[in-house]
Amino acid sequence: MKQAVVIGAGVGGLATSIRLARKGLRVTVVEASDSVGGKLKEIRSKGYRFDAGPSLFTLPELIEDLYEDDDLFQKDFPYLKLDRSCHYFWKDNTQLIAYHNKEELSKEIENQLKVSSKDFMSALDSAAEKYDLLAPLFMEKSLHKAGTFFNKKAAKAISKLPKLNLMGTMDGVNQKLNHPKLVQLMNRYATYNGSDPYKAPGVLTMIPHLEFNIGTFFPKNGMIQISKSLEKLAIDAGVNFIFNTKAEKILHQNREVSGIQTSKGTIEAEVVVSNADIYPTYKYLLSDVQPPQKTLQQERSSSALIFYWGVKKKFSQLHLHNILFSEDYREEFKQIFDTKEVPKDPTVYINITSKYAPQDAPEGCENWFVMVNVPATADGLSEEQIQLARQTVINRVSQQLGENIESLIETEDVLHPKLIEKRTSSHLGALYGTSSNDRMSAFMRHPNFHSSIKGLWFCGGSVHPGGGIPLCLLSAKIISELYD
Ligand code: FAD
Repeated sequence: MKQAVVIGAGVGGLATSIRLARKGLRVTVVEASDSVGGKLKEIRSKGYRFDAGPSLFTLPELIEDLYEDDDLFQKDFPYLKLDRSCHYFWKDNTQLIAYHNKEELSKEIENQLKVSSKDFMSALDSAAEKYDLLAPLFMEKSLHKAGTFFNKKAAKAISKLPKLNLMGTMDGVNQKLNHPKLVQLMNRYATYNGSDPYKAPGVLTMIPHLEFNIGTFFPKNGMIQISKSLEKLAIDAGVNFIFNTKAEKILHQNREVSGIQTSKGTIEAEVVVSNADIYPTYKYLLSDVQPPQKTLQQERSSSALIFYWGVKKKFSQLHLHNILFSEDYREEFKQIFDTKEVPKDPTVYINITSKYAPQDAPEGCENWFVMVNVPATADGLSEEQIQLARQTVINRVSQQLGENIESLIETEDVLHPKLIEKRTSSHLGALYGTSSNDRMSAFMRHPNFHSSIKGLWFCGGSVHPGGGIPLCLLSAKIISELYD
């Protein structure tokens, strides 16, 4: 039986371990921390439960795909399809609910913004067209194998590329919408992978298709259900977990992997998969290998500052996902990506799982996950910067809700770029690996395999096809399809 070692029990590592174990390999997952999930863990404090990282769940079929038994999936992974994706708020008190139902959405746009919804609805049709054409090529297959491009489907997609605004930016494409608030709303989707809408390629305007056309979902037990379910599937498939153990080196000889060296000894293996961020993978685990400099020098995605607040009141105007927009979106992204500051007037995202999972907060209370985007830098944030941002966020939310929320916060936990890096080894605390601020970024991500060391593979948010739970799950699928 072939031995495989997966370094890291993030979503990508877990999914890869399941797939390789089902192919008959004896799989060991070596995880530096004491539990699975990586960025997708949870925090519990004084009767509140918070999902620590990802909060938005799309494409549940990618989880279902890991289940061999449909009944088990229904039983182990209960989830809801939501009737709306997000509540949007602007400082002038305009509010907009992004309903899933097209008629309701159209009416909402016309009622709240006093504009025709025609351009917005056709932008959603165009997002669907781009997604259907490009996702199978750019997300579901390796971009580093000739076979991906030499087939009928790919030829069709490639022939349509010139029509798809690959040259312009997301903002450039979205400017065709007839209202500045709709432009801002659609530009927001650059943050799906930690990018800047004023630089990211227009083709990323396909992202809203996921929320508006396909839908947003909620795992009934919170996002942590994803980590727990994948761990259970891995154990059922025979995967062995070793926690509190750091991989220190990937061993190889004669252009073939031979195992890994860990803080507790050596593990021999014919297959090694690194789910650790590609930057520390080369810097520490493959320090004897020529690094792919261009790939490693790519700009990182944005990071985040998150406050987990137990709030002793319920706010009916807030929903599961809420966005309180900044006044000057262009300036906000300039500060995140160019001047590398904490935005002075940040867009604030509030996620409240207790809206759907009442057990996540005490009676009459809500669990607020409050996030602002910040730059991924070597210095991280000082305590002073964190406190300043905290006050800015409290002021902004209080202004929007018409009530001072500070005295309602009864528990608090904070996550910031340095902690993200420390806890998950994500270089500079980036949420999604590298940014997509360059037209070529999709092609610059590291492949899911090493081109000259046989048996060495890479999965997770810092390699192809990119960051976010769905893409991490797809990285595992690509590996298992390429592995024979
Ligand atoms: P990671 O989660 O990065 O985990 C890597 C694992 O490897 C860690 O457990 C780490 O301890 C381990 N490891 C690293 N080095 C070693 C070593 N040397 N030895 C042993 N173990 C090692 N995505 C969404 O889809 N929706 C969202 O709403 C969303 N919001 C987010 C919000 C936040 C605050 C954050 C942080 C991320 C968010 N993301 C979101 C992104 C998403 O969480 C990630 O893309 C995804 O979880 C990354 O998974 P991964 O497989 O790359 O592994």
